[in-house]
Amino acid sequence: MVRPMEELIGRLRAIVGDEWCFTQEHQLRTYESDGLLQYAVRPGVAVLPADTEQVQACVKACAEAGVAWVARGSGSGLSGGALPLADGVLIVVSRMSRILEIDRANQRVCVEPGVTNIAVSSAVAPELFYPPDPSSQIVCSIGGNVAENSGGAHCFKYGFTTNYVCGLEVVLADGEIVMLGGQELDQPGYDLLGAFVGSEGTLGIATKIWLRVVPSPETVKTLVAFFDSTHAAGEAVSEIVQSGVVPGAIEMMDKVAIQASEAMANAGYPVGRGAALLVELDGAERECEARFDQVLGICERCGSDDVRIARDETERALFWKTRKAAFPAMGRISPNYFVQDGVIPRTRLPEVLDAIEGLAEEYGMVVANVFHAGDGNLHPLVCFDGRVDGEAARAEELSGRIMDACLQAGGSITGEHGVGVDKKRYMAKMFAEADLDAFQRLRCAFDPAGLANPGKVMPTPRLCGEVPGIYREHPLEAAGLAERF
Ligand SMILES: Cc1cc2nc3c(=O)[nH]c(=O)nc-3n(C[C@H](O)[C@H](O)[C@H](O)COP(=O)(O)OP(=O)(O)OC[C@H]3O[C@@H](n4cnc5c(N)ncnc54)[C@H](O)[C@@H]3O)c2cc1C
Repeated sequence: MVRPMEELIGRLRAIVGDEWCFTQEHQLRTYESDGLLQYAVRPGVAVLPADTEQVQACVKACAEAGVAWVARGSGSGLSGGALPLADGVLIVVSRMSRILEIDRANQRVCVEPGVTNIAVSSAVAPELFYPPDPSSQIVCSIGGNVAENSGGAHCFKYGFTTNYVCGLEVVLADGEIVMLGGQELDQPGYDLLGAFVGSEGTLGIATKIWLRVVPSPETVKTLVAFFDSTHAAGEAVSEIVQSGVVPGAIEMMDKVAIQASEAMANAGYPVGRGAALLVELDGAERECEARFDQVLGICERCGSDDVRIARDETERALFWKTRKAAFPAMGRISPNYFVQDGVIPRTRLPEVLDAIEGLAEEYGMVVANVFHAGDGNLHPLVCFDGRVDGEAARAEELSGRIMDACLQAGGSITGEHGVGVDKKRYMAKMFAEADLDAFQRLRCAFDPAGLANPGKVMPTPRLCGEVPGIYREHPLEAAGLAERF
């Protein structure tokens, strides 16, 4: 007798072709984790559909078999959002990587979800560009960006992914194809497009994405200022923003991050200094010049005695390389590390950075800080040696204390990396039960059978009441582990 999963695999194989349906251990290992390597689950099967019709057919087959699935783009997520299900299907959209339309006159681009972030700007350069620029932009997909509402260094001035997505073609969990939004900026009715952006693969799979692109700035000026402490650099950030300057980007690295990144990028950064602040101004040339002098003055007043100005595009690229190398560079100084992603009001930067330093001392662990300072979006990198018993657990506990410090300062448990599987335990610290219930009702409206990326985002498993058939108490309900809506 053919078992249900085997039958489903047979159907999936027929849809995508043998070549794109993976069931062997050596094939599936690639997909066990996303960028958060602490979690690993081998999926039951991984399929790589070629187009919307194949995605729809795969999702319908899963719905008919009652098997849950997880969407995956490039797998660079840092919260375990694309972590597979052992008895589920992984739907990988990386083969869907065509730019379908470029409408320069209306500043719109339509792409398939597997297109990388950087490919959008490259396709419309030099007149136009796509501002949300995650540091992972050379690999991460636009579909993943939509699902995570990704940010990046230039989002302080330009806004996040949600500010650039105008339309989505989505395959819902029952296989229906719907259109959310359109080519224009705002549509009447409820903002379902807004609900989908940031929904972490729990509401369906985006198969076509219409993006807004904007004119490239006339000029760009970039500097790096070095300070004795993150405290002083944090004060410079607050002063720059309060003075009315809106930098294109304002990024900070602390002493540990400078040391690690310099070893990788060789930009000539002074290892040993307390903090590096990268400030980039863009816009009209005359305004940039005037504002740049203002920023220089503030950095100097706040204690920087070493300010370097990028003399040309090559030097600017080197400054950015050093900043963007920070996460991978950490591997040079620590066998393992957890990347955290918390947000605080920008004005609380100095005190929260001091609190993180205090926690690192208390735990006797190294915490590096690399972050989008303008947005108050911190990325503490908690370093540990996974070979030492109990170290990973202590690093995780320390990460949790850092999240608490962010919440106490009036912030959030995630700025751009999403909740996924990693942060769901903190959701109840940030939201009341009524808020979580409202989220669940929204989720159930899109996916009543709960097949799209279950076990992510919500702190405890929840079920949807709209499942057809006679009501029977689910074992998870009976055990008090899940609620029905
Ligand atoms: C070195 C490094 C630096 C990073 N820097 C940044 C940064 O600066 N800013 C930032 O925001 N993030 C950053 N990230 C995190 C990550 O790159 C982003 O979250 C990115 O958007 C994930 O895209 P992906 O294609 O890899 O998605 P995946 O990891 O494959 O998936 C992420 C989530 O999206 C869902 N998903 C994927 N495709 C679809 C789809 N088509 N439809 C519906 N749901 C889908 C998945 O189910 C999952 O929940 C960084 C990661 C790394 C490793």
